[in-house]
Amino acid sequence: MKPAPFEYYAPRTVDEALSHLAEHGYDAKVLAGGQSLIPMMNFRLAQPSILIDLNNIAALSSIGVGENGDITIGAMTRHSQVEHDPLVAKYAPLVFETMPHIATSQVRNRGTFGGSIAHADPSAELVAVSVALDGRFHLRSQSGERWVPAKEFFLGMFATLLEPDELLVEAVLPSQPPRSGSALLELARRSHDFALVGVAAVVTLDGRNSCQDARIVFLSVGDRPVEAHKAAQVLIGQIPTTEALRAAAEVAAVEDVHPSSDIHATAAYRRHLVKVLTRRVLKLAFERASSNSD
Ligand code: FAD
Repeated sequence: MKPAPFEYYAPRTVDEALSHLAEHGYDAKVLAGGQSLIPMMNFRLAQPSILIDLNNIAALSSIGVGENGDITIGAMTRHSQVEHDPLVAKYAPLVFETMPHIATSQVRNRGTFGGSIAHADPSAELVAVSVALDGRFHLRSQSGERWVPAKEFFLGMFATLLEPDELLVEAVLPSQPPRSGSALLELARRSHDFALVGVAAVVTLDGRNSCQDARIVFLSVGDRPVEAHKAAQVLIGQIPTTEALRAAAEVAAVEDVHPSSDIHATAAYRRHLVKVLTRRVLKLAFERASSNSD
């Protein structure tokens, strides 16, 4: 099928895009990499009467690092640019590790960081990773701007706090404290498929090598990224021994997630994956935290 008819705008500045959104917000969609929106339009699952193409707005494609080590990624930065950026490798190793898991290089050449976040697919890696890193998003409209923590941004399947006249302009991913480590693991039926289950972990050790902080966030087990608060509580204050990681993984699988069955996997299999992947991802993250403290 082909999309329903639409009017097309190609603004060159953010202000111009915001003015189109202010005028047409409820009838409009912004076009980023088009990797999700265009198929949805072709299937007529999305039928915007106005398409606002962001691809000519150079100001939205950038990667920068602040003095405190926080990394800022512009909404229109392509996945492939993030994947190969040395600043991302150095200051946001979890993001760097994540990028090759997203789709194929063809999709990564067009898909954008902001598109992935705004689309809010609960199976998207960057959605979970932005929560695990305690990131925040900069939203702008013609009437103002606001910063929203990633953990509050995702409201459900493909649903976010974005208002119809708002644009996601950038994401900030804070640097992690010393003695921190992170990792992402997932299982997909075929390489580059969306994961059946994935998990991102960010942990910090204190001076006695006990767990000071832990954020464990799952993808593909709910209608949004799911943070394992109870499993994290099991770890905090503990030396991350094999037994402690096993106990945290058990709590994550039994208490923190409530997956459902679909054509890809049963709920029971997803719980099993949560347990196995959590244990493994925590082991990796704590090993990295430990080597970052040398
Ligand atoms: P678009 O498709 O252009 O837009 C998506 C939505 O976000 C639209 O509603 C649009 O209006 C809105 N939007 C975009 N940018 C903004 C903005 N700045 N402000 C406000 N709203 C905005 N993703 C994964 O995470 N993991 C995978 O394994 C994976 N596999 C894939 C496999 C295939 C075959 C394909 C086609 C896609 C896959 N994707 C995967 C999705 C891919 O990562 C896309 O990047 C993502 O879907 C959307 O990014 P986009 O830039 O293409 O956004």
